[in-house]
Amino acid sequence: MIPSLSPESLEAWLLWQHQLQSFTFNDDFVKEINSDISEGFAEVFKKSGLFSSARIPAAPAAKNVEEPLDESLPPLEKVRIKAGKCSACRLAAKRTNMVFGEGNPNADIMFIGEGPGEDEDLSGRPFVGKAGQLLTKIIENGMKIPREQVYIANIVKCRPPANRDPMPDEAQCCIGFLKEQIKIVNPKVLILLGKVAMKNLLGIESSMSKAREMTYEYEGIKVFVTYHPSALLRNETYKRPVWEDIKKVMKYLGMM
Ligand code: SF4
Repeated sequence: MIPSLSPESLEAWLLWQHQLQSFTFNDDFVKEINSDISEGFAEVFKKSGLFSSARIPAAPAAKNVEEPLDESLPPLEKVRIKAGKCSACRLAAKRTNMVFGEGNPNADIMFIGEGPGEDEDLSGRPFVGKAGQLLTKIIENGMKIPREQVYIANIVKCRPPANRDPMPDEAQCCIGFLKEQIKIVNPKVLILLGKVAMKNLLGIESSMSKAREMTYEYEGIKVFVTYHPSALLRNETYKRPVWEDIKKVMKYLGMM
């Protein structure tokens, strides 16, 4: 029996067990945990010889949606429908709602976070929990524009369990939807919130304190990076650098 643990704890428990004594899983056991462990972690087991390679599922390919879409729908709505039917990665299994993104389809500013949390999973809307409320304050009190004027999306559209970071294979599976959103909205600036967004959209893995000293470009769009609002909730000292980053964006856009 697999103990009742979060996927992260399960991974840690499996690794610990294996260090104590190597063992081989039977088919049922493997089937049960394969839906919860990360692809990277499965690789560790594969290399250890614990799993036969045949038992490690390859990262699932993006699922083709065969039903023709109504061509008269707005472009973002077509992508939303595709994402709503998506089960290309393990995150689909436990989602309550797919969280596509929301806002002005012609926004000048697009914020990109990492993935939905519990409040977002329950509501189907991005950034509505405590971190989201802080982001709304940054937009409305700091930038002095209504939240509805910007567009807000995430790297992955389904909630990672226990609010962990999306795994690389999950982000890889999902990022096509975000790229379509960016292409359609075509904002003047992208503001990447946190390291997960930075890593998956720009391929940058440096610390946020270093990365935020520079600006970047994605498909001809100016990109700014700053701390994720949830980091601000944990550490108030990030408030000043975030405000400095937001002012850089406002200056670039001629808002101040
Ligand atoms: S996270 Fe993205 S790729 Fe994974 S199931 Fe959800 S929509 Fe599909």
